[in-house]
Amino acid sequence: MSKIYVVGIGPGEYEQMTMRAANALKSCDVIVGYTVYVDLVKEHFAEKEFLTTPMRKEVDRCELAFEEAAKGKTVAMICSGDAGVYGMSGLMLEIGQRYPQIEVEVIPGVTAATGGAAVLGAPLIHDFALISLSDLMTPWEKIEKRLLCASEADFVICLYNPSSKKRHDYLQKACDLMMQHKSPDTVCGTVQSIGREGEHMEVMTLKELREKQVDMFTTVFIGNSQTKNIGGRMVTPRGYQY
Ligand code: SAH
Repeated sequence: MSKIYVVGIGPGEYEQMTMRAANALKSCDVIVGYTVYVDLVKEHFAEKEFLTTPMRKEVDRCELAFEEAAKGKTVAMICSGDAGVYGMSGLMLEIGQRYPQIEVEVIPGVTAATGGAAVLGAPLIHDFALISLSDLMTPWEKIEKRLLCASEADFVICLYNPSSKKRHDYLQKACDLMMQHKSPDTVCGTVQSIGREGEHMEVMTLKELREKQVDMFTTVFIGNSQTKNIGGRMVTPRGYQY
């Protein structure tokens, strides 16, 4: 039976890839992915065949993976971070219904939330909500509602896709919504290029975050009412007495 691994390669550097992911890439014939992610793994798996498709061509990319597997090859479809967090594992399983002879195995990875949390300190140690600000496939009204409800419930909030060329003011809009329930002094953090060249973190308040311009390679963290800045690191207490 032909096989496709859907592999989360972690946030960037090879050292943050799990051994199970690296073994899957070692054992496959073809690696399929978005150009940027293929470039991240190429040097470690140089002998493999690589097939790339551009951003926004996700359905084509999945079909390409199944077509290759149907030829009898073992295929790895790679995603950054975890393939099950705004990644391709769902679409692969949906399209896989058309290819019952091909087995799909999902291999987890370090997602930007946990990769970035480690850089900042320990912001996510309690209940948190992960929200994407991208309204490409989710109506903005739903994103607004999720931001408001998560803020009202005092969740730590982690934001993916905080900005793009067309959405340069979305983070500002999100901060205004969160400030309806969270204090402007709430401790926040940003991490750019987690596990990649130029990795950069900053800790600030929610009102400072509102004035910041971030890019699409940044993950944003908004604390709960207990989150502290401890010597420049972002720490949410779990509640231990000491
Ligand atoms: N599957 C990926 C998420 C894809 S959504 C994962 O599990 O990490 C893309 C968003 O994830 C980006 O806009 C950014 O907010 C975040 N992201 C992914 N990789 C990142 C990295 N190396 N550094 C900072 N943010 C990252």
